[in-house]
This record gives sequence, C-alpha cells and structure tokens, in this order.
Amino acid sequence: MTQPGSGEWDGLVLSSRRVADYKPYTFVDGEGVRCSLYVAGCPFTCPGCYNEAAQSFRYGTPYSQELEDRILTDLAKPYVAGLSLLGGEPMLATPILLPLAQRVSAEFAGEKTIWIWSGYTYEQIMADTEDKIALLDLCDVLVDGPFIQRLYHHDLAFRGSANQRIIDLAASRARGTAVPWHSSGPDREDSVPFLAPAPPPS
Ligand code: SF4
Repeated sequence: MTQPGSGEWDGLVLSSRRVADYKPYTFVDGEGVRCSLYVAGCPFTCPGCYNEAAQSFRYGTPYSQELEDRILTDLAKPYVAGLSLLGGEPMLATPILLPLAQRVSAEFAGEKTIWIWSGYTYEQIMADTEDKIALLDLCDVLVDGPFIQRLYHHDLAFRGSANQRIIDLAASRARGTAVPWHSSGPDREDSVPFLAPAPPPS
C-alpha cells in the first residue's frame, strides 16, 4: 500500500474525469436506497482491493453532463435516500465530484444525504488540499481509511476492514474531531468499536 504525504496527491492534476461505474438504486453503499457513483483512479493500491481495475485513472468511461443529469433524475425519486461516492478514490476526483455534490446540495437542499468512501482518513483529508476539504464539507457521512487485509471482517457494515470508520460529518464539523456515525434505522453496527485511525501497515 502507498500512503501520500499531505497534499502530495492532487485530484486537480491526477483526475481523468472518468468513472468506473454508476449504479442507481443500490442497497449496500450506505443507509437506505442509494445511487452509487464509482470513480476511476486510486493510488493507494491496497492489497486485496475490492475494485483493483478501478485503481487506474484510465479505467472506465468519461464522466458526462448526461450522466450527471441522470444521477440527479434518479436521486429525485422519493424512495432514494441519497448519493454514494466510491472508487477508485473520490478525493482525487474532485473535478467531477465537487460540481456534482454542489448540484445535489443545491437542488435537494439537504433532503438527500451524500456518503463518501476514501482511502484517506478524516484527519488526513482535513490536513490536505482545499478541494478535498470542500468536497468533504458537502458530504454527510465518510467511510475512511485504506482497506487493510489483515483487518478484514465479513460482518462489517459499509466497510471492509475494521480500521475503517463510519464518520458523522455534521457532528465532526461541530466538534472539530471525527465523531462516529450511528444509524437511525436498522443498520446499526454496535458490535464494532470506533477505532483510532490505523497506522499504515508495515
Ligand atoms: S483505497 Fe479503496 S479503491 Fe483505493 S486501492 Fe484501497 S481498497 Fe482499492
């Protein structure tokens, strides 16, 4: 696995504006029915990555205005809880995800949540480039940290390894530190403790 220094990886430079996949009406990428966008490109190169092909910034197809419009149309369905941003590495796809998240925020005025998955930890993002912080500011829940194979557990909700945390971003902004997310519905995961960020594996 590769770990970046603060600001070392810049999505404004690295992003190819490509997406690996788009899946409307999913049930596994966060709470409720969701529309999931998987961006292309991730340099973390975690061993055991669930989507190795999408590590390449050249993978997939170009993002387009048509796709963005379709995502907004799908999100408007009353039974859709929100948008999920996965990868690849969403924090390095800010040229497409910042405008998308801004549009979702403006058009749905907080009615639809935005969940984001990142190989960066919350603390790394908050110490990194402005575009990453701006994207995080528009999101409601962050699932953070790289996938660490030795910490894999099949029972974890919305994440693959126990180092990864599910973070309530509104509460974290209010307190200035990462605050664990708790489901208001049936997706509770009380059996898993909220861990400090794991150190990079040796
Ligand atoms: S951060 Fe996620 S997408 Fe990137 S290499 Fe690790 S598991 Fe794969």
